[in-house]
Amino acid sequence: MDLVKEKPKCPICLCEPFLPVTWNKIIKRMERGQPILLSKCKATSKNPLCLTCARDYLNSQIGEKAICPMRCCDGYKGLELYQTYGDIIRNKTEFAEDCMWTLMDSYGVLNKKCNRCENTCITLEETLNHLRKNCTKRKIPCGGCRILVPFDEISIHKLSCHFARFKIL
Ligand SMILES: [Zn+2]
Ligand SMILES: [Zn+2]
Ligand SMILES: [Zn+2]
Ligand SMILES: [Zn+2]
Repeated sequence: MDLVKEKPKCPICLCEPFLPVTWNKIIKRMERGQPILLSKCKATSKNPLCLTCARDYLNSQIGEKAICPMRCCDGYKGLELYQTYGDIIRNKTEFAEDCMWTLMDSYGVLNKKCNRCENTCITLEETLNHLRKNCTKRKIPCGGCRILVPFDEISIHKLSCHFARFKIL
């Protein structure tokens, strides 16, 4: 009998999530469609999404509402994408699931291999910052046409976009 505990799978890519995030569902809305009360989607607390999968999924949704990838609740695309996943009480510059990732690392179960560029990070810090600073596949918005362009395709994009502008961190 196989006693090895199965690793959680991202419901979108079906792989072990890289930088796993949980989904936030809307409990109550304010007048102008802004969420005032969010709570955790239980299904994604058990099977969290990759941070990259969550963002790609949200970017592909039309309108303000975004049904959760497990199809069990409604999230909110809203003005700020980051509010639909991760720690509910955080600001935009903080890591989505800082506590969970740090805890997972202390147990030696944090997946450090990026699902986009296949790079394996070594330290916790490197892993946390990978998608922000080092991933060659990280998506950066073009200031000219507003399309999200992978970092390693910027030079190609510049050939076809006359207004190409990139703010690279
Ligand atoms: Zn995924
Ligand atoms: Zn859900
Ligand atoms: Zn990467
Ligand atoms: Zn462009």
